[in-house]
Amino acid sequence: MSAVKILRAARAACVELVLDGDDLALNAASAPPAAVLDALSRHKAEIMVLLRPAEDGWSAEDWQVFFEERAGIVEFDGGLPRAEAEAQAFACCVVEWLNRNPARSPAGRCLRCGDREHAHDPMLPYGTEPNGHVWLHSRPPGTRPGKPRLCLR
Ligand SMILES: [Zn+2]
Repeated sequence: MSAVKILRAARAACVELVLDGDDLALNAASAPPAAVLDALSRHKAEIMVLLRPAEDGWSAEDWQVFFEERAGIVEFDGGLPRAEAEAQAFACCVVEWLNRNPARSPAGRCLRCGDREHAHDPMLPYGTEPNGHVWLHSRPPGTRPGKPRLCLR
């Protein structure tokens, strides 16, 4: 089981995990299932990496939770298929990341590829004031017109 799946299982069992210096502390109202405790113990190092915040203040776990919350809202409240909900959740993550890590693209130029807007590949603004926004093509280069996708890898 991957560290991400173990964290998901711990959350489902109402176990709160927090970094305590070089240790991993568990908070739970009742004793977690033995399988969850065993998995947490065996994968402690990888889980601590996921929980350690980056310079923007968010850990990999924070991003995973943010993504899953957004995808769930779009899927269950918005009634969209899971794949579309995940695409919209990913776009939300891009905006949140840009708000936490301000970047600007030259006027009318895509931040990723540096190219201008094309009729078959419009650019979209990502990010909000006061940080400003960046422009990104709606589809990766080399793809045919169709379903809009972000110009990010
Ligand atoms: Zn581009």
